[in-house]
Amino acid sequence: MLEEEKEAGIDLMHEGFLEYLDDINIVEMLRTDPARVSSELDLLLRECLVYALNDKEIFSTYPDDVLPGIFCFCCGMLREFASLSEKAISEDEETWIGYMHPSTQVLNILTSIRIHGYLRQLGSHDDPSVTPILAHWPELYLAMKTLHKSSKSRDSQLESFHPRLIAGQIGDILVAFLSNDNIRPYFTDDTDLRKFAWRLWLENGISTTEDKEILCGSIARAVMLLSTKEGDPKSRTSCAMMFTVCMSVCDEFGGKNAVAEIALMSAYRTMMSNDEMLVRQLLPQQIGVLASLADCDVIPENRIARRIYEMDGIPKLIEATLNILSRAQDADFRSVLDFIGEATVTLIETLATENYIQLEVAIRSGLFRIFVAVQTSVNGPLEFTRKTCFRLIETISLFFPYYSVIQALAEQFRELTEEDEARMLGEGGDGTIEFAWKGLKRSVISSYILTRMFESCAQPFPKICNNCTKLEAGHNFFQCPGCARIPYCSAECQATDLKAGRHSELCQKIIDGKSQADKNIPFLYFAVNKCVQFTCKDLGQSTLPAKDPILIWNATRTREQVSVSIRPKDIADSELHDRRLRNYESYRVIDGQQIKAAKMNGIITTYIHIQAMYREGRENCVVRYLRFDLDYGRVETAFGPPMHELHVLRAIKKDISIKYPEADLEKSWILRNRDGERIHLFDEVDAYFRDKFGKYS
Ligand SMILES: [Zn+2]
Ligand SMILES: [Zn+2]
Repeated sequence: MLEEEKEAGIDLMHEGFLEYLDDINIVEMLRTDPARVSSELDLLLRECLVYALNDKEIFSTYPDDVLPGIFCFCCGMLREFASLSEKAISEDEETWIGYMHPSTQVLNILTSIRIHGYLRQLGSHDDPSVTPILAHWPELYLAMKTLHKSSKSRDSQLESFHPRLIAGQIGDILVAFLSNDNIRPYFTDDTDLRKFAWRLWLENGISTTEDKEILCGSIARAVMLLSTKEGDPKSRTSCAMMFTVCMSVCDEFGGKNAVAEIALMSAYRTMMSNDEMLVRQLLPQQIGVLASLADCDVIPENRIARRIYEMDGIPKLIEATLNILSRAQDADFRSVLDFIGEATVTLIETLATENYIQLEVAIRSGLFRIFVAVQTSVNGPLEFTRKTCFRLIETISLFFPYYSVIQALAEQFRELTEEDEARMLGEGGDGTIEFAWKGLKRSVISSYILTRMFESCAQPFPKICNNCTKLEAGHNFFQCPGCARIPYCSAECQATDLKAGRHSELCQKIIDGKSQADKNIPFLYFAVNKCVQFTCKDLGQSTLPAKDPILIWNATRTREQVSVSIRPKDIADSELHDRRLRNYESYRVIDGQQIKAAKMNGIITTYIHIQAMYREGRENCVVRYLRFDLDYGRVETAFGPPMHELHVLRAIKKDISIKYPEADLEKSWILRNRDGERIHLFDEVDAYFRDKFGKYS
């Protein structure tokens, strides 16, 4: 249809209209008084001018100084056709096309490279005034809104291809306007425009490969530009404002869930499409919108991100990132690839390190494959992606107090091949992936040994409340009715843990065997007590403060930076208060009920408590009060008093050097026996505990 119409337009011109336009000196008219074009030329002639300007060759004969006139003419024409189209919604196809086709032609001119260039230079040194453009903006904006509305109602009555085409072109115009730093500030408070942009985005939703020629990515870009404050591309405040606007319009499209689905699935499909043009033109904007929505914590509980998690957003993004990284690309594509790699890994980092539950999901979904893939292109310029990976690996090291995270990491380390391991080790120094990776390996192996020690404990663990960490005395505890694996001391503790402790997110994962988070709190009790005992061995009873001593176990930094200290309780409390005042991380304090109980009974405190501080998420910490087991029994392993995990590691390494003389643990954790059988370092750790103490199997 489009082609036929275009032919018809050119035919008209061939019949002498073009010469006529020349005769009346249209160029001069556009230059000096564009308003006269509208008042003096009839509609057919003006349509003819539109067709002429759509012809690149003819348009190129119009000099630059008539561009403002052409812009003005186009705004007027668009308004005229928009109001005609409003009346033609229910008309026959021919009439409808008769109005819609010239409209798209006008939009074509407005989105042409020359008009874009003109809009871009406004406000610059060469052309300091933006007034002419702003003078036409209300007319243009109204026309775009009307066209958008009528093409949509026509579509709902009688299907037509127009809505997406028009929306894509409107997106292009918005981008042309908003990309200009001198013009954008005029739209800072324009809520209506923001609503319009979100509506376009929500309507056009998930792009499929079929409509790639329409490239609705410009809408995502317009949305991003409207979220940007001048000179502050990552402004949280303007992001928050955009989020609020989005929330105010999303209900008619299916609410927050629809927002999350469109944001995630549009990016995912583009990444999986293997279409280089789509990846280049659409993906950066799609990732941008998804990232700003995922990072928006305006609404408590971050509900957009929640829906992304529910939709397996992390596994999808990991899969899609691997797909993008795996493709052999020409040199020109590599810088785009690096930009996309950086953006997607940053997004995965934001989602995965939000809390320890999502981190476990990410690790189990093949997060390591991304690191290996990035390392594989070691000679390529994936510099920014590598930096982001470094940061992510460092962040993983903050989550070692969690049994579930350690297990997930250990499982993934077992899956690595010798080639993978070799790729992850290079000559990297401080600040490189290789450096962070070595640190992660050190933490993983000693943490893994600690979990095996935990499982070889001399006495079975009493039940520990999953919220307040109180030990069961008597038989008042009950299990979570969902998973039947998590004990609670009271209904209050269960309610707190369900919401604030995120057990609601974990319950099904524990049932499905996708997480061993049910062991997190008992393991914490063990690991903290063992660490504190080990440190306090040298301190002796005399160094304890006389009144209300409390031990502080601070694991809010990486595993290698865990610290233990002793304070009078009031000082510890005020220090904690100071920490909580700092706004860059939040602290969830679970009140030490056991401390209160001991005091209430008027008994001189028999138990010293440990204030255990560690991370629940990248930006939030938890403070729990654990009982310090003075009798040592609880944390003693079957083989005697607590040993440092590094001593155990040394013993295991010694065994390995005898059993596998060829092995080089610095290079690979895969060992081979005389028959060439593949054995992992973790198998040897398991064997050590099994053989020597018979407890762990
Ligand atoms: Zn409790
Ligand atoms: Zn449960």
